Amino acid sequence: MSDPVVDFTTNIDLDKHVCVDFLKLKKGGIDFGKTIVSNHPQLKGVSDRATIYHYVTDYYESQLKNIVKEQLDLSRSWREAEEVFFKNVSKLFRSDSWQFNKYACYLSMFNCNPRFLHNGTFQVYYKKESKIGTVMHELMHFKFYDFVKSEIAPKHGIIPNQNLWELSEVFNTIVLNLPQFQALSKKKEVGYPELKKKTVELERIYHQSTDMSDFLHKAL
Ligand SMILES: [Zn+2]
Repeated sequence: MSDPVVDFTTNIDLDKHVCVDFLKLKKGGIDFGKTIVSNHPQLKGVSDRATIYHYVTDYYESQLKNIVKEQLDLSRSWREAEEVFFKNVSKLFRSDSWQFNKYACYLSMFNCNPRFLHNGTFQVYYKKESKIGTVMHELMHFKFYDFVKSEIAPKHGIIPNQNLWELSEVFNTIVLNLPQFQALSKKKEVGYPELKKKTVELERIYHQSTDMSDFLHKAL
């Protein structure tokens, strides 16, 4: 199977929706509203759609050049990292299949970095320090969810969304800190504050497991 392609682009409408949704979101010990306001103080106390949409439009008008520059830089560095990344993901899962042959990475003005499993798209904050690390994080989520859906769920039965989300985040923290991925991202994967305890527990189980299926059956 050939590796999927990651396209890098911008999507202003998505940023408008993400801002509306994430201004009020708290998850896993992270207050996304606070994160947004820390980079965009003008949005403090704002919740109405029209004001948010205007702010995003104006921001893109003034910063588009910088956002596109980061987009091109990220695209170039990804081309250098992708082959090694996909090879190591295939080794880890013992499977090289991907749900989509194309994934879209949208550079974003917000540091929320969500992924959308249904269509293989995700955002990366354009000022983020290790954008490659975030690209790898989101792609690992896509692979993880595909694998669980095809290999684990049929034997395991229904897995509650919250459990699966937690495990996907913990899994990312464990594997993206392995040397083969650290060599590419060069930035330690920190994870959600509320999942720290679980990460320590599951890291032990991960290193005692024979393969990914074995690990996931034990962890779920
Ligand atoms: Zn994540």
